Amino acid sequence: MTSTLPSSLPARASAPDAAPLPVSLRIRERLDAAGVAYLANDNIAEHLKDGELEQLEIEVAGKVRELLRSLVIDIDKDHNTDETAERVARMYLHEVFKGRYHHQPKIASFPNVKKLDEIYTVGPISVRSACSHHLVPILGNCWIGIKPGERVIGLSKFSRVADWVFSRPHIQEEAVMILADEIERLCEPQGLAILVKAQHYCMKWRGVKEPQTSMVNSVVRGDFRLDPSLKAEFFELVKQQEAVLST
Ligand SMILES: [Zn+2]
Repeated sequence: MTSTLPSSLPARASAPDAAPLPVSLRIRERLDAAGVAYLANDNIAEHLKDGELEQLEIEVAGKVRELLRSLVIDIDKDHNTDETAERVARMYLHEVFKGRYHHQPKIASFPNVKKLDEIYTVGPISVRSACSHHLVPILGNCWIGIKPGERVIGLSKFSRVADWVFSRPHIQEEAVMILADEIERLCEPQGLAILVKAQHYCMKWRGVKEPQTSMVNSVVRGDFRLDPSLKAEFFELVKQQEAVLST
């Protein structure tokens, strides 16, 4: 029998009873076609269609179930792990990696009508992430220093945007840069400084097993970069905020 389908159609499209493509494959094909990056610390929320996140949750749960089976865990008999796959899928997509799949929380900015130009710092803000290499937790604190520009945002908004940015698989150095980009976009400060101190469970729980090691890094932009005294003032203010914590 001669097929009436054009030969250029992909095989899966010519078979009417072919299994539907996994939703993750459909999304990746869409992102590839649009030339959009989808690295571990990228947000893809605007490229997801209605209902796809729910479908992803089902697909991921299925893969975690297979992972558990590959780890030779009897999930059919073990009452502790029989719903682990569903919990892990929900946790990745809606909690610990929600910054990849969910839109940025709505953050309103306001004109800086009083022309404020004194620096201030906000912190410590708790940050929670996971290393891109092993997907184990990175937990720490973040301080943000601002020299206001044309627009201002409420103090609590810094926590919201930090939580959203850090809730992705990361390496700490890139997390800080991405957070700086988002804050610059939201309030266009004249100067921005961010300091992050974090514990990496990658080093505490596995690998070298160094329980006391932490990583500290910072990014300074605008006037904080141009004016060393402003930069020094930021680190001094962070020290004072830490001292408040220990009293
Ligand atoms: Zn790691």
